[in-house]
Amino acid sequence: DLAPLRRALLSVSDKTGLIDLGRALSERGVELLSTGGSAKALRQAGLTVRDVADVTGFPEMMDGRVKTLHPAVHGGLLALRDNAEHVAAMEAHGIGPIDLLVVNLYPFEETVAKGADYDTCIENIDIGGPAMIRAAAKNHGAVTTVVDVEDYGALLAELDAHDGQTTRAFRQRMAQIAYARTGAYDAAVSTWMAEAIGETAPRRRVAAGTLAQTLRYGENPHQSAAFYTDGSTRPGVATATQLQGKELSYNNINDTDAAFELVSEFGQGGPACAIIKHANPCGVARGETLKDAYARAFDCDRTSAFGGIIALNQPLDAATAQEITQIFTEVVIAPGADAAAREIFAAKKNLRLLLTDGLADPAAPALTYRQVSGGLLVQDKDNGVITEADLKVVTKRAPTAAEIADLLFAWKVAKHVKSNAIVYVKDGATVGVGAGQMSRVDSTRIAARKAEDMAEAMGLAETPTKGSVVASDAFFPFADGLLTAAEAGATAVIQPGGSMRDDDVIAVADEAGLAMVFTGQRHFRH
Ligand code: 5GP
Repeated sequence: DLAPLRRALLSVSDKTGLIDLGRALSERGVELLSTGGSAKALRQAGLTVRDVADVTGFPEMMDGRVKTLHPAVHGGLLALRDNAEHVAAMEAHGIGPIDLLVVNLYPFEETVAKGADYDTCIENIDIGGPAMIRAAAKNHGAVTTVVDVEDYGALLAELDAHDGQTTRAFRQRMAQIAYARTGAYDAAVSTWMAEAIGETAPRRRVAAGTLAQTLRYGENPHQSAAFYTDGSTRPGVATATQLQGKELSYNNINDTDAAFELVSEFGQGGPACAIIKHANPCGVARGETLKDAYARAFDCDRTSAFGGIIALNQPLDAATAQEITQIFTEVVIAPGADAAAREIFAAKKNLRLLLTDGLADPAAPALTYRQVSGGLLVQDKDNGVITEADLKVVTKRAPTAAEIADLLFAWKVAKHVKSNAIVYVKDGATVGVGAGQMSRVDSTRIAARKAEDMAEAMGLAETPTKGSVVASDAFFPFADGLLTAAEAGATAVIQPGGSMRDDDVIAVADEAGLAMVFTGQRHFRH
C-alpha cells in the first residue's frame, strides 16, 4: 500500500507555498523536476532542481504550449511500477519514474473573470497541466497528484506519518480531487466558449463550477455545503463584492439571488425594491425615490420582511440606508452605494452589503439546474419577458392605462414567486402575495388574507386589495380563484390563458366587470 517518493515534478502557475514545499521535499531526499517559471523560483530560493527540458531533451516551445508533453514525462507518470513490460520500457527509453506531481493550472477562470479578450483567454487554456494531472491521477497506485495549494500541508503530514511514503488511501483521495479540478477546468473553458459564441442549448452545455466558498452549513445546520461559481461575469450574487458583514450562508446566497434577479426585472425604469424571504418576495414596489420604493415594499408584509433580503435597482443612498436600518435585515444587494449610505451601514456590523456592477439582464439566455436523485434536470432559465403588445384582452372591458401598468408589474413579480403564484398589485406595489400553494384558489385566498391582516395591523380604512390588479403565474383552471380575487377587490387580471375552461373563466370575469388579459406565456417556478 505504501509508495516511495523519490522524484517529484513541480509545475505551478500559482507559486504560493512552492518554495516551502520544494524545500520540505528536498530535505526529505526527493529529487525535484520543474518547468521554466517554477524551476526559476525554486533555484532563486537556493534549491537544486532539474529542468523538465533536460529530461525531455526538448526546450519549452511555442510560448509554453509545449513543455511537458513528452513520453519522458508521461511515461514516468503512467508506468505501472510492478509491470515487467512497463519497467522494461522505462529502461529501454531512459524514462525515470515520477512519484509526485504538483500542478496548478494556468489561471483560466481568473483570466475570464478579469474580462480578458478572446485570444488572451485562449492562451490561458492549460494543455500539458491537465494532461499530466489526468495521467498521474490514473496511476494513483504509485503516484500522488496534488493540484491545490491547500493540500501541500496534508502531503507533508502524510510523508511524515509514513516515513517519507504515501498510503494508497491518500493517493486515491488526491486523485479524486485532481479529476474534480480537470473536470471543472474544462467545464469553465466550455462555458466561456458557449457564452462567446452564444450557444445556449442545454444538451451542448456542461454543468460544473469552481469552488468559490466552503459554506458553514447548508439549508440546515446538519447539511454541509459549498458554493460553486460557473465563471460567468454577469452581475449577480456570484460576482458581487461584499463590503461588510459575515460570510453569506447557503440560504443567504439563494435568497440574495432571488432578490437581485427580481429587482433586475425593473431595469432602469425608476427606483424599485424587492424584499425576499425564503426565496419568495414578501414585498416589491416602485417608488418616487428609492426610499419610497423600499417603504412601499416593506408595507406589503411588514411581519415577513423582518430578517429579509433586500435588492435595489439603483445605488443605495443615505435616506434609503437609514430607513433600512430601522429593522433587522440579513443582506442588501444593489448596483452601488454612495459614501453616506456606506457610513450608515458601517454602524450595523451584521448587515451584509453586496455591490454589483449593474443589473442582471432578465432576458439573457442562461441555464438552470435542479438535482433529482440520480440525475440533473437542465433547462433554459425562464427569461420570458412580456410587454403591453403581447397582451390579449379577452373580456368586454379592456384594462385602463393604470391597470395595464400594474398588470405588467404584477406579472414580473409573479414570475419570481413559487407556484402556485398569485400577486395583487396596486399603484406599482405588491399588496398581497400568495406563494407555493398546491391549489391556485388557496394562493388567491392567502394573498388576500395577508393583505387584510396588513391593513388591520397598519390601521388602514380598507383592505389594499380594493382596486388592485391580480396576476396568476398559470391559468385559472376554474372560475373560483378568479371570483375570490374579484371579491377581494381586484379589478383586472393577468394570466396566461389556455385552460379548457377559459370560456367559463372569461364569462365570470365579464359578469364581475373585470378586465382580463392573456399573456400566452406561463411562469411556473418550483
Ligand atoms: P512555469 O511557471 O513553471 O513555467 O509553468 C507552470 C505552468 O505550466 C503550470 O500551470 C502547468 O500546468 C503548465 N504546463 C506544464 N506543462 C505544460 C505544457 O506542456 N503545455 C501547457 N500549455 N502548459 C503546461
